[in-house]
Amino acid sequence: MPSAPAFVLAPPRLPELSLAGLALARETITGTHLHTLHGCPHEVVLDFRLPKSDKLPASEALAALLARGRAFEAEVVRALEVVEPHYPKGDFVTGAAETLRLMREGHPLIYQGVLFRAPYLGIADLLRRVEVPSALGGHAYEVIDIKSSRKAKLEQQVQVAFYSLLLGEAQGLLPTHGALWLREAPEERFALDDVVWTLLDQLDELSALLRGEQESRPHRSSRCDGCGWRERCLPELERSQDLSLLASLSRSRAARLRAAKISDVGALAAADPTALLRRRVLPPASTRALQAQARARRDGISVRLEAEPPALPARALFWAAEPDPFRDGRLWLVRAAVLEEGVVRAPMVHLIADDHDEAQALRELARFAEAHADAGALHFGERSASTLARLLATRPELASLERFTRSQDLRVLWLAHLAHPVANATLYDLGLWLGLRAPEEGGAFPALWWENARESSGAERERWRARVERFEQAELATAARLLGELRAETAPGASRG
Ligand code: SF4
Repeated sequence: MPSAPAFVLAPPRLPELSLAGLALARETITGTHLHTLHGCPHEVVLDFRLPKSDKLPASEALAALLARGRAFEAEVVRALEVVEPHYPKGDFVTGAAETLRLMREGHPLIYQGVLFRAPYLGIADLLRRVEVPSALGGHAYEVIDIKSSRKAKLEQQVQVAFYSLLLGEAQGLLPTHGALWLREAPEERFALDDVVWTLLDQLDELSALLRGEQESRPHRSSRCDGCGWRERCLPELERSQDLSLLASLSRSRAARLRAAKISDVGALAAADPTALLRRRVLPPASTRALQAQARARRDGISVRLEAEPPALPARALFWAAEPDPFRDGRLWLVRAAVLEEGVVRAPMVHLIADDHDEAQALRELARFAEAHADAGALHFGERSASTLARLLATRPELASLERFTRSQDLRVLWLAHLAHPVANATLYDLGLWLGLRAPEEGGAFPALWWENARESSGAERERWRARVERFEQAELATAARLLGELRAETAPGASRG
């Protein structure tokens, strides 16, 4: 019997892509662009199309985070024996040739190796020698990227996959693994298989965006407040009364509305609701709420929605347990207060630095709950509720917080009863709209400010801490006011929707 044919799958490759003739301000695709694509596709398009000098610099808070990342990388590398390619600044062809020379020589660790095949450019933090035959000889290399975060993130792995595909072309062998050198886990090694396919999907998207085959447009989100292109995008969105100015309207839902010829806030406000429902552009409940929001924005007032009045507690125990974006599985903030007649009573704000702090903050939250057993539990947004549910599932000692699982979500209640002319329905944005606070320079990112406090000392630490505390007090004041407005089932200038 003839033997079955053997199939050998070709290893994945970076797609052939030419950026020539696209009138772009830069002509290399780097790992940073993939990272940005993950956050906002329009940002990466502007990064390519416009001069870098037009982009606002990173906020003070973000700059501090980036500087710590660089300091961590320098600290890691200081303890290692590395060689580094030397080449004229910006001459990546020479940099790649020099890196290849070092790779052929077989050095154990190469720092800042240049991997370049136009239009792709990768500068890998570390290339580590592995004893596997390749076009280099009896050895090959794999990529290690140094990150100051504590846990691996998919976008970091995608960046490693990007460098690995470039490395594969240079050494004639695609590495099977890559690694991240993290703050708490030096050399977290992972298989590249699935990550490579995520990378290729992202490169397809990026290519379509840059070639104009996929539309790129700004979309309002809380990311915009800290983005370097905000002075360009935000006025444009206001001028065109873009659909993304409506709270919580996703990119895909905005696209569906546009495909149905509803291209801006005014058009949505004026659309015949019955025809809109019949055409099934969006789910019925969202359609009604979005139209009310569109009217609120068009007319600059809040609009009361037809809904049963909410059953609200006379005294509310308003609480938060926020997951830490910089320390997976940990909390950064526990906060509680009693809200009564529009006033904040007995506020408690715990900013968490370590496990000991976290345990103490949760114990105090439990004591607070006991001391105010007559107050109905209330929180804002889904994040605190899901975080607490996770904690309760794994930590039986927190059983006294169980009543918070029946907590009402003030955000859900607010959006079900009142539409308002605010783009992001966060406490911060609602506080701005109510005139209870001033805009934060570079956007509202209190978890980042607290991370900056934890990682600094002395006056610097106190400055960041004070900023977070001021912010959290304003959050409580906003919640008290929202609850008061909701209880009265009206907001400033409200009219029936
Ligand atoms: S301002 Fe907003 S929409 Fe514009 S590029 Fe930045 S994140 Fe994207």
